[in-house]
Amino acid sequence: MNDRRDSLSALPLRENLRGKSPYGAPQKSVPFALNVNENTHPLPEAVQETIVGKVASVVGGLNRYPDRDAVELRSELADYLNAQVQGIDLAYENVWAANGSNEILQQILQTFGGPGRALLSFTPTYSMYPLLAAGTDTDYVAGTRGSDFSLTQESALEQLAEAEPAVVFLASPNNPTATALGPDVIEALYEASEPYRTMIVVDEAYAEFARDSTRSALRLLKGRERLIVTRTMSKAFGLAGARLGYLAAAPHVVDALQLVRLPYHLSAVTQAVALGALAHAEDLLATVDDIRAQRDRIEATLRELGFSPAVSDANFVFFTGVRDSQALFEALLDDGILIRDVGIPNSLRVSAGTREETDAFLTAMRRLAPEHV
Ligand code: PMP
Repeated sequence: MNDRRDSLSALPLRENLRGKSPYGAPQKSVPFALNVNENTHPLPEAVQETIVGKVASVVGGLNRYPDRDAVELRSELADYLNAQVQGIDLAYENVWAANGSNEILQQILQTFGGPGRALLSFTPTYSMYPLLAAGTDTDYVAGTRGSDFSLTQESALEQLAEAEPAVVFLASPNNPTATALGPDVIEALYEASEPYRTMIVVDEAYAEFARDSTRSALRLLKGRERLIVTRTMSKAFGLAGARLGYLAAAPHVVDALQLVRLPYHLSAVTQAVALGALAHAEDLLATVDDIRAQRDRIEATLRELGFSPAVSDANFVFFTGVRDSQALFEALLDDGILIRDVGIPNSLRVSAGTREETDAFLTAMRRLAPEHV
């Protein structure tokens, strides 16, 4: 492995990829995998059947390229958002889809970032942001948050003026802290960034789990052409394996993204799977309430045990007050429970699973707490 690493660094790599590590959340086979914020509920049978039917209907045509513009899928996604968030009226022209919201974020940086331009985000935040910046030759500015991981309007505006970024990524709810951002901070950043024409991107991968869905930045889109809201079917829809992310923005922003998308980037199979799932949006989202309830149980129990969990608006809980994060991580793994050490001292992150998975985690934590608080 060391030889491979030496050989890799001897390659004529781009300078900004030198010394970097790829995204690498462990993919271990354990009884309780609560480490990558998936929806751990399996897809209901009826949904599986619809998806299989949709895929079957395109298989005969796989000799042809798929709909390059994914119009039917984008219309269904727009309808889904309109039903989810009151007071918005999106059409397919407002929506763009790709292979996971990671690809959406990459396309945004390919379009609006690049050499000589900066991406600002506020750390700790989603670990892919700096990698996406490096991959698109965009400078990455790691802004900061308060000691409680919140981001105040004042601090956000100060850091914006300092960085004069081409793009800002705001994860809300944020990963790994699970905390949501108030619309006031987003609005203020938008107004203050007018001189730099910054694209303000709100990454709402976990929006469906928020306590108050009226806070979605989708409601701010009207009249704000530099605002983009990204979403995914990986979390609430339980469709991480299908790879379908999307965004909502002004139609001319969607037009701009077509300049960088690869032709036929979204396979006919992916489009069919997503359409099948969207036809069952209500059934799939039924798991959201249960996940929220498990999340709240985790938060309350961890607090009771003496840890300090952040108030979560997502399907996972971030908690501090851990004596030695690596030691607790390993102790849980010995019990077959995989959670996530995100590299922040004295903290860990755990996804809210099914009731049984949550029981297993909390039972282990009750036993381990006295040694690890
Ligand atoms: N944004 C955030 C904040 C995330 O946590 C994740 C996945 N962990 C993503 C985007 C990407 O998700 P996907 O590519 O599966 O849509």
